Amino acid sequence: MVYTLKDFKYIDSHTHFFSPEMFKSIWNFFEEHKWPISYKLPNDDLIQILKKNHVKAFTTYNYAHKKDLAEEMNEWTNEFVKENLNAIPFGTVWPEDENREEYIEKLFKLYNFQGIKIQPLVQEFYPNDQRMKKIYKIVEKYNKIITWHAGTAPYRNEYVGIKNFQKFLDNFPDMKLIIAHMGAFEYDKFIKLLDKHENMYLDTTMIYIRDNIFPERKIKRPKPEVLLSYQDRILFGSDFPNIPYSYENSLLGLLDLDLSRNFYRDIFYKNAKKLFNLKID
Ligand SMILES: [Zn+2]
Repeated sequence: MVYTLKDFKYIDSHTHFFSPEMFKSIWNFFEEHKWPISYKLPNDDLIQILKKNHVKAFTTYNYAHKKDLAEEMNEWTNEFVKENLNAIPFGTVWPEDENREEYIEKLFKLYNFQGIKIQPLVQEFYPNDQRMKKIYKIVEKYNKIITWHAGTAPYRNEYVGIKNFQKFLDNFPDMKLIIAHMGAFEYDKFIKLLDKHENMYLDTTMIYIRDNIFPERKIKRPKPEVLLSYQDRILFGSDFPNIPYSYENSLLGLLDLDLSRNFYRDIFYKNAKKLFNLKID
């Protein structure tokens, strides 16, 4: 049977929350690059939309795009999660900030952040950048998570791709990691890493969309049998609100695969609940 959206509850492991001013400039940037945003709304409205879609918890991914901005963004996120208790806080870091180690340590020591997000398409540094080494050590020390846009989709620069990422992984093989977009377009290579790295997860963000937003060309999305064999290591994510289609689309494409109830419960909810150690039903 094909399930409907109402048959499940969800934790969205890949949503973005910025201050209204930051959202505005990000949305302008996206739209200048021919990526229309379907949800240019105030944060309270965005949260209501998630609620309406049975999303019980969601991440606050953001990223600094220049020097001396990350600390302020992290402080904003900390305030945001005080108001929105089902938000899962993640921080950002800029490798040139002189106080980067201090402000990252604060996220874990004084605040209850779950980890940091790294976006090399915007932040432009290599995964094994020396300036990041101590940051990684801090994340590891507190047993926190790094979410990484490590793959080459939707476009590539010199900092993404599995070859670069492997150099980081060789130094931090046990780090808790979420690979965004299932490592697209290098799906097979990132999936293979799951066998060796038991703390690594993949998020489904933008991959199983009905209209297939990431062009497949020669490379195909992972097949249902691959998803099933890693069902405890896959997290549902949407990239909400920075998407050019309706939120439901992120879920419906996965439901179209017509897999087991057990599979959907894992990827929609249970895996994320466990990884983020959430105290929700
Ligand atoms: Zn994203």
